[in-house]
Amino acid sequence: MKNLSPESLMMSYGFKPSLSEGAIKPPIFQTSTFVFERAEDGKAFFEQAYGLREKNEGEELGLIYSRLNNPDLEILENRLTLWDQAEDAAVFESGMGAITTALMQFLSPGDLLLHSNPIYGGTDHFVKHVLPRFGVNVMGFDPNQTQEEIETMVKESGHPLKMIYVETPANPTNHLVDLEMCRSIAENFTTDERPLIAVDNTYMGPIWQHPLKHGADLVLYSATKYIGGHSDVIAGACLGSKALIAQIKEMRTFLGNMAGPWTGWLLLRSLETLKIRMEKQADNAAHVYEAIKAHPKVKTIHYLGALKEGTKQKEIFDRQFSSGGAMLSIILNGGEKESFQFLNNLKLIKLAVSLGSTESLAQHPASMTHAGVDPDERLRYGITDGLVRLSVGVENPKDLIWDIEQALEQVTIDSKNESKPSLEPEMA
Ligand SMILES: *Cc1c(COP(=O)(O)O)cnc(C)c1O
Repeated sequence: MKNLSPESLMMSYGFKPSLSEGAIKPPIFQTSTFVFERAEDGKAFFEQAYGLREKNEGEELGLIYSRLNNPDLEILENRLTLWDQAEDAAVFESGMGAITTALMQFLSPGDLLLHSNPIYGGTDHFVKHVLPRFGVNVMGFDPNQTQEEIETMVKESGHPLKMIYVETPANPTNHLVDLEMCRSIAENFTTDERPLIAVDNTYMGPIWQHPLKHGADLVLYSATKYIGGHSDVIAGACLGSKALIAQIKEMRTFLGNMAGPWTGWLLLRSLETLKIRMEKQADNAAHVYEAIKAHPKVKTIHYLGALKEGTKQKEIFDRQFSSGGAMLSIILNGGEKESFQFLNNLKLIKLAVSLGSTESLAQHPASMTHAGVDPDERLRYGITDGLVRLSVGVENPKDLIWDIEQALEQVTIDSKNESKPSLEPEMA
């Protein structure tokens, strides 16, 4: 058959109705264990699951126990690979489950983990406070640091670089990291093995950025966000080569943080509308940006659809991304008081953390998602008290603009509260 697009395959790929009484949709396989036809089958499945022997030609891993595999997860994993053109995928009960499992699988005491800054608050905590307890050395690089500066830092640390962990765009500043630069760093520090590159693609994936094409080895998702897309499920995923995902699934088996069948089923349903939801959200975000960019109470907006031509950030954007996305970080002329006035007066847009959902959500990173990040670091990355993060949903854009404008009307600017100056990425 013709090479079909992922959106055309999301309703059928990897599922045989004849195995499920002709049902057009995969049933929820709400079962903990699976019956072996013969003892020999059970033995063969376990030999494979525990890697005791090589697979025979055409042999597939049979179903054993839902901590190891389950049809809803297998179908979901197969479908998820299509967007990123990955060989394999593993799904988890949360994005943090995916991220921590990948880090634990590939890092050992003494290794160096290099990561971009800023990173998601949960990841930030795990990397800075948990990994060091297991002897892993951790080093962050800041936006705008050059490859040469980063390589000097890594050399001076004296530790062997094992993994580079990147979030691009950064949350909530929308600062972009150049993945080809990361690949080049990894190659320059290759000894026996090349350091692995893992990218948290939650903000722009799986439609608008495909990190594997730019030299990454692993792509990580909080599937709670765009992939789930309806604010009703927590889940995560990790994608990459068959060899790497096999290692991650091995760790997942022992940590026991795989997604359950119901989560798998919900995500299968969500994937059918993923592309049209994301396209509508991006289109709405562009409308909202145009309507409010010149508003007198708005100082600036970090929006990837409006990067300045000729800047390094725009060059990275053109290479790595195919859309401006649906995340706007609005910097108000003011501080926490003004941000709270704005948030408290929104009528349609919900005041909640999370993103990528059908409904628009707004929150205040400095006091909410990034409250745990060191205050000096927050300012260094531009997470000021005047920054409000908006995830644009699928509503009618006119209603969203009406809501934002009426809430901005309620903001009373007090000049003493101006956002502190910060390292501002090259944003419009
Ligand atoms: C939400 C999020 C996570 C964590 O995912 P959970 O599903 O909440 O565990 C990780 N990275 C990014 C960028 C996120 O937005």
